[in-house]
Amino acid sequence: MLIYRLPIAMSFKKGRSICVSCRHELHSKDLFPLFSWLFLLGKCRYCKAKISARYPLVEALNGTLYVLIYIFIAGGNGLSGFSIALLGWFAAISALIVLSFVDLEHQIIPDSMWITIFIGGILVFIDEIINDGFEWQKLLNRVIGIFAVGGLFFLIGVISGGRAMGGGDVKLMAAAGFLLGWKLIILSLFLGAFAGVLYSLLSKLINKTKMRGAVPFGPFLSIGIVLSMFVGDSLIEAYLSIL
Ligand SMILES: [Zn+2]
Repeated sequence: MLIYRLPIAMSFKKGRSICVSCRHELHSKDLFPLFSWLFLLGKCRYCKAKISARYPLVEALNGTLYVLIYIFIAGGNGLSGFSIALLGWFAAISALIVLSFVDLEHQIIPDSMWITIFIGGILVFIDEIINDGFEWQKLLNRVIGIFAVGGLFFLIGVISGGRAMGGGDVKLMAAAGFLLGWKLIILSLFLGAFAGVLYSLLSKLINKTKMRGAVPFGPFLSIGIVLSMFVGDSLIEAYLSIL
């Protein structure tokens, strides 16, 4: 819903969801994540227009990542594993999903989404303070994280007059830098760039057509950030052990 409504500045607090084809208001039984789409076989109940598979796929992706976060990042101690950190990671991952799809379609990263990631970072940090006590070093790690890639992107943006780097990418990497700290946000940049190169190679191989315009960086940065969240520490450890 956010992916559809945010870019056209439609309120997401009020107004029921409608079919984008016949504009019929959707019944609450049509709004059950994933299962409504499966039950309706991907068609509107009222006008039988096809409903994009993007909606259930995004819901499934979001749900899967929540489970993975619970198991591998926060929570994990049985069903009682709720924590403030869990809430923060959930907020961040959903914002990354939404901004990736909005960026793909509209080449813009909504402010509300990088702000959500930053708030997620604050929640994770608060949880850390509750559990381990406050340490200046840990705060410093997050503050440097804001500038490690965010600052670099800002400079590239200034030097290129805003052509090579959009403001949305700067804010995304600043917010995610606070969430992850400086090591993991730098790793996110490398992983994201790698994903971007891999994508352009594959799409050239498959399509053999010229790519249309600039490909937005946000989705690839998001992939890098998510990979860093889950396997970043192990990757850095493995790399250091090779050295
Ligand atoms: Zn319809």
